[in-house]
Order: sequence, then C-alpha cells, then structure tokens
Amino acid sequence: MREPDQSSPRPEVSPALRASVRAFLARPAHLLIDGQWQEAASGETFDVLDPATGQRIASVAKGTAVDIDRAVAAARRAFTRGPWSRMLSAERGRLLNRLADLIESRLDEIAELESLDGGNPLSSLRRADLPMALANLRATAGWADKITGETYLSRPAGHGLTYVLRQPIGVAGLITPWNAPFLMALNKIGTALAAGCTCVLKPAELAPLSALWLGTLIQELDFPAGTVNIVPGLGPEAGAALAEHPDVNKISFTGSTAVGRSIMIAAAGTMKRVTLELGGKSPVLVFPDADLEAAAAAITAEITFKTGQFCAAGTRLFVHHDVETRLLDALSTLSRKITLGHGLQASTQMGPLISRRQLDRVLHYIDEGKRSGAQLVTGGKAVPGSGFFVEPTLLADARPDTSVMTDEIFGPVLCAAPFVEDDLDAIASLANHTPYGLAAKIWTRDLRTTHQLARKLDAGLITVNGGGGEGARPFGGFKQSGIGREGGREGVLAYTELKSVSIGY
Ligand code: NAP
Ligand code: MG
Repeated sequence: MREPDQSSPRPEVSPALRASVRAFLARPAHLLIDGQWQEAASGETFDVLDPATGQRIASVAKGTAVDIDRAVAAARRAFTRGPWSRMLSAERGRLLNRLADLIESRLDEIAELESLDGGNPLSSLRRADLPMALANLRATAGWADKITGETYLSRPAGHGLTYVLRQPIGVAGLITPWNAPFLMALNKIGTALAAGCTCVLKPAELAPLSALWLGTLIQELDFPAGTVNIVPGLGPEAGAALAEHPDVNKISFTGSTAVGRSIMIAAAGTMKRVTLELGGKSPVLVFPDADLEAAAAAITAEITFKTGQFCAAGTRLFVHHDVETRLLDALSTLSRKITLGHGLQASTQMGPLISRRQLDRVLHYIDEGKRSGAQLVTGGKAVPGSGFFVEPTLLADARPDTSVMTDEIFGPVLCAAPFVEDDLDAIASLANHTPYGLAAKIWTRDLRTTHQLARKLDAGLITVNGGGGEGARPFGGFKQSGIGREGGREGVLAYTELKSVSIGY
C-alpha cells in the first residue's frame, strides 16, 4: 500500500499585466466579419474568466447563426471575387511570413494574454505553444507556392493531354478548443490561407481572447477583407451553425470525440470535407532497459503540461514489472515538487484547470479510480481557495477496463499498470485496448522493440525516448482520435480539391 501525498501546494495569485494587454482587455471584443469589427446580431455578450481566480477578465460578443451566415458570405465573396484565391501563391506565403514576424515581435503580449485566459504557465507557452505556432506558420507559408498538380500522357500518344489541377477547396470553417487556443487558431488559419482558402473561425468559448488578438494583427497587415473572419460564440449555436452551413466547403475541428461525431453528422448534410483532431488516451510503454530517470522526468512534464489538458498526453502508463517500483517512486517524487500557481507567476510549473466543471470532472474520475481498486500514490485533491486547481495525481494498479483507463480525463492524472509480457504483440494489444489512437510513447534502448512496436501501435504520433525534432509533422490520430492530419504537406493538401482536365488535340 502506498501512502498518498498529504501536502497541498497553494496557488499564488498576483497577475500584473502589461499595458497593451490591459488595453486589449478593456476594448469591447467583437466579431471580425468582412474586415470589420462588428457587434453580434443579438447584441449579447458572454463572460471570459481567469481560471486561476474564477474572476471575469473580459466580455466577448456572442455570435449566433445569423453572424455565422454573414461571416460565411464574406468569406465566400473574398474567395470567389476577392483577391485571396487569385493572388500569386508566393504572395500569400509572403503575407503569412509577415504575420509570423508580427506575432514574434509581440510574443510577450500574446504569452500574457493566453496565460491569463487559459491558465497555462507563461514558461510553458514560451517553451512550447508559441514557438511551435510560429514554426508551424512559417512551414505552412512555405507550402503556399509548392502546391502543384500532375500531368498524364494521352492514350494513344499525341492525341491529347490530361492534367490534374490542385485548387483551394473554398470556404473553410474552423472550430478550435480552449486548451491550446492560440496555437490551434493559428495552425488552422495559416493552413487554410496557405492553400488559398478563406475562412471563418469559431474559437472556444472558454478561451477566445487570443484568437481575437490574432484578428487585430491580421487587420494590421491588411489581409483582404473577408479572408479571415472570427466569430466567437457557443458551440451548439455558432459552432453548429458553421458545421451545418451549406456554403462552407470544409470543416477543420479540434475538440472532443463526442462533438467531433456531431460535426461529422452536421457536415454530412452537404458532404463537407472534414478534418477532425479529437481526444486521446495515449499509452506510455516503459521497458526494463529504459533510462528511467529521463522517462520519469518526461512523463511528469507531459502529464502536468497544460494541467493534463493536452490531447496527446501519455496518460496510461504501462511499466514492466521489474522496474515498476523504481519508476513510480521517481514519478511521485517529481510530481510532489511541481509548483502550482497562477500562469503569470514566474515560479509556476502547472496552472489551474480551465473551469469548475473540468475540476469536478477530474475529481470525479480520481474517485472512480480509487473505487475501482486503483492505488492513490500521490495527489488526488483539489487545492482549496479560488481558481480551479488540482494536484498532479498518480494512480497505480489501474485495471484495463475501469473508467480511469478507458476515458479521456483531460487533467493531470496518470494511471499506471504493470506488465510482465515479453511478446510485443501482447504488449501492443494492451496499449491498443482503447477506442482512441492519437499518440503512443515508448521508452527503451532496444532497436528491435522500438521499430516493431512503432508499426504495431494504433497511433498517429509515436514518440520514442522523449522524441525530438518533430517539426511541423503531420499531426492526428487513428480510430476515434480523428480523421485526417494537420501540419506538414498532408495538412495543406487537406484544404485542396483535385480536378482532372482532359484536352483532345
Ligand atoms: P469540445 O467541447 O469538443 O469543444 C471544441 C470546440 O467545439 C469549441 O469551440 C466548442 O465550443 C465547439 N463546439 C461544442 N459543441 C459544438 C457543436 N455542437 N457544434 C459545433 N461546435 C461545437 O472540446 P473542448 O472541451 O474545447 O476541448 C477538449 C477536447 O479537445 C479534448 O477531448 C481534447 O483531447 C481535444 N483536443 C484534441 C486535439 C487534437 O489535436 N487531437 C487538440 C486539442 C484538444 P464551446 O467552446 O462554446 O463549447
Ligand atoms: Mg478563460
């Protein structure tokens, strides 16, 4: 029996905001439609909270189906008549690179705003989300003038020619979640634009501010009116209206598997193309020959990154029986040292969960885990006081079919189980025993184990020994973790249609 950790780290809350962020928050946050900031048709707004304090930090216009309609019409005009889809592709790439430079020149501002809205520590935004967002945008901008078609020889020779055009798909509807709001918004907008599409973005209600901030930069750079439209609002209203809209050609959605399913159904009405980046319950496999110290550090960093609200996090830990005790000891020591606090506090390593609801959900799963026989090794409690804080939690001896091992918890809860098998097929089947298939992580020094398992695991992203140099790789999942890939060449091509043109001489 392992003793649970009794210490409760208390968050320190003292956000001191820079003037530009205060000014942004003080301005009314409207909808960006056809190059103009506009009020919602309903005149209504919704509150945006700082999850570290539960305090309101802004009010944002609440877009509904009427606003989505106007935004889609603007995007359609910009696509068919406006300069965007007719612009030289190199010019589109150049404008996207200028956007990257402008964002980079104001990185401190966006880091602060994003941290305040979503709760993520400044340090992790500066280390992960923001550099990744910029690198992805620049890589995507580079694809803009490299989208090419093909030519086929005629049969019989000399009688004609067939060529294949690759054209932008049209108006893209983009729906993003709250856990990496800026990164997701920028990834989707950048990719749609690089391919020559115009777009309407519906950011998450719980963290919409960085998308609106991005809208102000897009305005500053004089992107043609209607190229990028941003309509914050509620999922079942604005989001659903976008997914159903008959004049939207494609939906790119990142969020939960449940909502992804409803998007697919809504999209079916007009046979919209869909890219779905959904949930995960990713396995981590630790073999006896692994560098346990490095594994413990990386596993802890990942389960506390975004307070566990990270779709590709390794949340089901399968550790070989021979090294189980050593690894769990190292993990619990590291997780007790994590400093919780307001994201804007320099010392903070882990911020709050996004909402009261998410906190209740995480605590519910921890209770379910204990009830189903898992051992609480460390953490397990909410942190008293304001804000939605929970301790990093480690549950051991979790059984495969209990809810903590099957459901995406989306909190800093790592569930471990030992394995004794040597057969890689049996190990892969343990890891693959989930409806999800986003990521899988392997810790071993053995090449045969590495390459054979990489093929056997049902996951779109495989990381070995902590990985490195992922770059703008194709990102997405198998099974119920989604459809299609974002990033890399595949990501850009997903915003295009093919057209075969046959010409007789
Ligand atoms: P969510 O509830 O599915 O919401 C995602 C987005 O969809 C939000 O903008 C939401 O609006 C909107 N939405 C909700 N209901 C809708 C509907 N009926 N029609 C159209 N849009 C609707 O997900 P979340 O809670 O924000 O994010 C957490 C989930 O995202 C997790 O499952 C996580 O794994 C997944 N995720 C996946 C990836 C990936 O790349 N695979 C990356 C990040 C997150 P509201 O905000 O107004 O509800
Ligand atoms: Mg918020």
